[in-house]
Amino acid sequence: MTAKIIDGKAIAERIRAQIAQEVQQRVEAGLTRPGLATVLVGDNPASQIYVRMKHKACEQVGINSFGYELPADASQEEVEALVERLNADPAIHGILVQLPLPAGLDEEKVLGRIRLEKDVDGFHPLNIGRLAQKGREPLFVPCTPAGIMVLLEEAGVTLEGARAVVLGRSNIVGMPVSLLLLRRNATVTVCHSRTRDLPAVTREADVLIAAVGRAEMVRRDWVKPGAVVIDVGVNRVEDPTAKKGYRLVGDVAFDEVKDVASAITPVPGGVGPMTIAMLLKNTLRAAKLAD
Ligand code: NDP
Repeated sequence: MTAKIIDGKAIAERIRAQIAQEVQQRVEAGLTRPGLATVLVGDNPASQIYVRMKHKACEQVGINSFGYELPADASQEEVEALVERLNADPAIHGILVQLPLPAGLDEEKVLGRIRLEKDVDGFHPLNIGRLAQKGREPLFVPCTPAGIMVLLEEAGVTLEGARAVVLGRSNIVGMPVSLLLLRRNATVTVCHSRTRDLPAVTREADVLIAAVGRAEMVRRDWVKPGAVVIDVGVNRVEDPTAKKGYRLVGDVAFDEVKDVASAITPVPGGVGPMTIAMLLKNTLRAAKLAD
């Protein structure tokens, strides 16, 4: 079997084009142009790149973006005061605090300060709490997990009653995607660094989500024939033949697993582009909530 490639790049592009069109229609109708504020504390190079990418993506769809930077030694009070200021600013519909925050800052407290209606990253404790409870609806869902769900839907995957295995239990990916799968009536197993005999567990999966951050850890014999595999991992591996001296690979050994899976996301070009598309979608929704 050769797996169908789930083309996240193309799906994300389509979503972005829809967003651009809607933003233009809003502005033409005299409504506010959506605005996203990013808060970057410190000088983590990866965070700087992610923030830059988000601003560029906003620009491409006509969303205003406002970048706020604080030094690595900013106090808890300073960070929270900035969030409060952005909460009160009517030109800003979404607030994204780039994680991780420097050591010493209370992340939960900062995220808890974001006005719920502006929590476009979906990490406000109340939004996450609602996600975990039956019958409650979060206002926003974290972007990477939301993007994964769109990919599964686009690939026509039946989740009701399916066995889903999630590798990883992080606040950002593993846990929220597990909760989303559960809400869609999958039977979910969440694995982590203390799970015994990982391959035996993953082989049970109809839907396998890999979000561990270990290059090509999921091998061919970890995957049940016909399973759908979503690879969230982004890992750098040395490659002297590449221009930059490295290349990006996922948590799944793509070349092996594509021969057993029924559908699979590539890295790059799978989950990554969806994360930003979902952020733009959430920002547009936040603007609509403020109308
Ligand atoms: P974290 O490091 O926060 O979490 C990793 C999880 O994997 C933990 O739950 C950890 O277990 C588990 N884990 C680590 N090693 C093993 C192992 N050997 N066996 C079993 N479980 C293991 O990572 P993130 O969730 O933030 O990110 C995961 C990957 O996804 C990374 O490669 C990251 O770059 C990528 N990513 C991609 C995004 C995108 O948009 N494409 C967005 C966000 C992340 P334990 O809890 O026990 O420590």
